[in-house]
Amino acid sequence: MFKIQQSLIDGEKPRTKSENHPDISQVMIIQGHNNFPISWLNKQGYCEYSIFLENVQRIEVKPTRNMVVGTKEHARLEEEFLRDAEPATFEEMIETSKTAELLSRELPVISERYGIRGFIDEVWMTPDEFVIIDDKPGTRAFPSSIHQVFGYCLAFKDTVKEDRKIIASLRERGTDNIFWSAYFDQRAENDIISLINRVHNLLLGKEEFIPTQNPKKCRSCRLKSKCDKKTLPG
Ligand code: SF4
Repeated sequence: MFKIQQSLIDGEKPRTKSENHPDISQVMIIQGHNNFPISWLNKQGYCEYSIFLENVQRIEVKPTRNMVVGTKEHARLEEEFLRDAEPATFEEMIETSKTAELLSRELPVISERYGIRGFIDEVWMTPDEFVIIDDKPGTRAFPSSIHQVFGYCLAFKDTVKEDRKIIASLRERGTDNIFWSAYFDQRAENDIISLINRVHNLLLGKEEFIPTQNPKKCRSCRLKSKCDKKTLPG
């Protein structure tokens, strides 16, 4: 598969006027609408209240070991990939992939329509389909991980605006082991749009951030020492 890297001129930057949200970290306001990182769909599935603590209350805590390892692994793979990747614009990639197989890493996507943005770990583009890959530690396909990769699929679909099939995949970090995949079909699209709308309602104060009731999640949560809603094992 031919390796190709989106050139810096595209980036994750919105093409229209944008600014940081005055109160909520990591939220941008683009054309008057909130835009949040797609990785929040993973956090939302784990515990919505963690988004409130970290981004609304702006509580600062150290990253977990998994996060540090993940960041290093991303950087290593990106460096390896860039050694022989050809630069191209997003439009050039899509056009070339109509007749050839391409691979891109850390592909930035932004959807102003759905108010989401992020970087896709890896995308395979073939004349028949797009495969959107998110790397995860371990091999369990948690619903929250599936929400995240479906969020990338939605932003990607909104960017390419064409009918090629999209497949969502989860891969064990640092390996070739794709341990879960599914077509991004109409049902998946509708479900993820509803979830994204819920997160927007949370950010707008129309709904409450709900803390998890699962003590196992709280026990592994890096925010637990600062959290007033944690559930501890009885
Ligand atoms: S400690 Fe529990 S309730 Fe609090 S943010 Fe973490 S997972 Fe959510």
